[in-house]
Amino acid sequence: MHEAAIALAVVREAEKLAKTLGTKPKLVEVVVGELQSIDLEVLGEYIRMNLREALPGVEYKITTEPPVLRCEQCGYEWRLDMNTLDPDVKEAIHFLPEALHAYVKCPVCGSRDLTVVRGREIRVRVHG
Ligand SMILES: [Zn+2]
Repeated sequence: MHEAAIALAVVREAEKLAKTLGTKPKLVEVVVGELQSIDLEVLGEYIRMNLREALPGVEYKITTEPPVLRCEQCGYEWRLDMNTLDPDVKEAIHFLPEALHAYVKCPVCGSRDLTVVRGREIRVRVHG
């Protein structure tokens, strides 16, 4: 259940950001890389519970962000649109991001020597 730990970290970060904002935020936005294998519904539930105590009355929104890959052969960088993948593949990658190398290749040179530049991080923003 690492969703609970992530939710706690998200809310702590939101509290910190809220202080620098100088005013009470209206919305906490959580941007989750699509390669994170977490249950967004469960995460949302934990965030809601933690937020209620830390920043009462503040709404939250979870959005996802497509992964960015880089080809180590030719240096090409691109955003992987997960919706273009077969649903089974999409699920495999969601639970095991390393599986990506078996299914995805560089659109320019065809290499499978790929690095995930972005896609696993979670970013927190607060909006006043
Ligand atoms: Zn390439």
